[in-house]
Amino acid sequence: MRKIFIPDTRNRTADAVVIGGGIVGTATAFWLSKAGLDTILVEARDGLSTLTTAASAECFRAQFTEPELAPLAKESIAFFENFAENVGLPGWDIGLHQQGYLFITDDEAMLPDLAAAVAQHHKLGVTDSEVLSGAEVRSRFPFVSPAVVGATFRQRDGWLSCHEVTQGFAKGSRARFFVSTRATGIDIDAKGVCGVETNRGKIAARVVVNAAGPFAGVIGRMVGLELPLEPVRRQKVFVASSKVPPEAPFTVDLVNDSYWRPETGGALMGWVDLDEPVTAPMENPAGDWDFPAICLDKVCRLTPFFEQVAENLKQKDIHVSAGQYVYTPDNQPLIGPVDEVPGFYLNCGYWFGVMVSPMAGKRTADLITGKMNNQDNLLRPSRYQEGIDLGGGSFLSGR
Ligand SMILES: Cc1cc2nc3c(=O)[nH]c(=O)nc-3n(C[C@H](O)[C@H](O)[C@H](O)COP(=O)(O)OP(=O)(O)OC[C@H]3O[C@@H](n4cnc5c(N)ncnc54)[C@H](O)[C@@H]3O)c2cc1C
Repeated sequence: MRKIFIPDTRNRTADAVVIGGGIVGTATAFWLSKAGLDTILVEARDGLSTLTTAASAECFRAQFTEPELAPLAKESIAFFENFAENVGLPGWDIGLHQQGYLFITDDEAMLPDLAAAVAQHHKLGVTDSEVLSGAEVRSRFPFVSPAVVGATFRQRDGWLSCHEVTQGFAKGSRARFFVSTRATGIDIDAKGVCGVETNRGKIAARVVVNAAGPFAGVIGRMVGLELPLEPVRRQKVFVASSKVPPEAPFTVDLVNDSYWRPETGGALMGWVDLDEPVTAPMENPAGDWDFPAICLDKVCRLTPFFEQVAENLKQKDIHVSAGQYVYTPDNQPLIGPVDEVPGFYLNCGYWFGVMVSPMAGKRTADLITGKMNNQDNLLRPSRYQEGIDLGGGSFLSGR
C-alpha cells in the first residue's frame, strides 16, 4: 500500500490525525501507528519535511542543562544510533555523524558556567560530556584560536540527515501520509474533538495532534486557544570550500552565538541573532543577502581558518536558507493534552525539534494511549497555569 500520497476528497475516519509532516509530526505518527492507532498525517505542502525541518542545521546534542530536556535528547540520540533497526528498515542510512559538539569561549568569566553546565549534564545522566581547558581544546582541535580559554565537549553529539530520518519514520510506520492536504478547521462536539476539516474532505477522529511547527498557533486558534508560541526567523549558510576540516565537531562560539560544522564539500554555519523579532508564521522564509558575510565574520573570530575560506569565495559557493524557531515562555516544548479540549494534543514549540523528535513523538503517543500519565509529563501545556518552573537555560537558545 502506498503510504505517502495525495488523497481524493472522500470523507475518512481515523483513530488519530496528526497535523504537520515535519520531523516532529512524522515521528509522532510513527509512534501512534506503532501503538496500534489507525493514524493519518496531513501535510499542507507537497512533501514531508519541507518547511522548518528542511531549514535546520540537522544537529543533535545531549548537552542540555534542563532536567526535562537532557533525558529526552539522550534517549533520542540512542534511537538515532539504531535508527534502521528501530523503524524496522534494515540498512536505512540516516547519515549519522557523531563528531561531537564543541562549545568554545575566549571569555574567562564564562568558565564557571561551563563547569556548572557539565556538572549539571552529569547529574541529569549525560555523564560523557567534558570540560576542556584552552590547551586541551587546541590539542584535540588544532584549528581553534589561541584565544580560546575553555570549552564543553561531548563526542556522541553530532548531526544527521533530517530528510532520511523523516522518510524513515514514514516508511517504517503503518500511518497514512496525506500530502498537499491542509487542515482548515477542527470539529468539536460534546465529547471533544471529532474531526479535522481539510481542503480534501473531512477526517473523523477523536484524537488530533498539533505538530504544525511555526503554524501551531494557527491550528490552536481552530479550537479557540491562544497558545504561547513565538516564531522567530533563523538563517543558515552553506559555503563550498576545501579548507574546512572534515573531521571537526559542530563548533559554537559562546560569546557571539555563531556556529559551524563541516558539510560535504564545505561548511554549514549560522548565527543566532538576538535582535531578530517575533513574527507571524512564514510559508517561505527567506535569508538576507548580507547574512553570509556577517556569519563568516563571526566564525572567523575563534576558528580563524575561515579567513582563508572567505578569501576565495564566489557567489556560486554560497547558499543561504531560513526557517523559524518557535519559542515558548520557558523555551521548552509543549507536549501533551490540552485540558480545555478533550482529544486535542500538542507536540510543538521547538527551536531544537530535530534532536528530540524520536522521544517527543513517543511521549505524545504514550500520553494518548495512556502508557504515560500526564502528571509525570512536566512538558504538559498546563505547566504555566500550574506555576511549574522547569529551570535550565541552554547555550545557543537565542533567548
Ligand atoms: C536555521 C535553523 C537551524 C536549525 N538547526 C537545528 C538543529 O541543528 N537541530 C535541531 O534539533 N533543530 C534545529 N532547528 C529547529 C528545527 O528545524 C525545528 O525545531 C524542527 O524542524 C521542527 O520540526 P516540526 O516538525 O515541528 O516543524 P516543521 O518542519 O515546520 O513541520 C511542520 C509542518 O506542518 C505543516 N503545516 C502547517 N500548517 C498546516 C496545516 N494547516 N495543515 C497541514 N499541515 C500544516 C507545515 O507545512 C510543515 O511542513 C533549526 C531551525 C532553523 C530555522
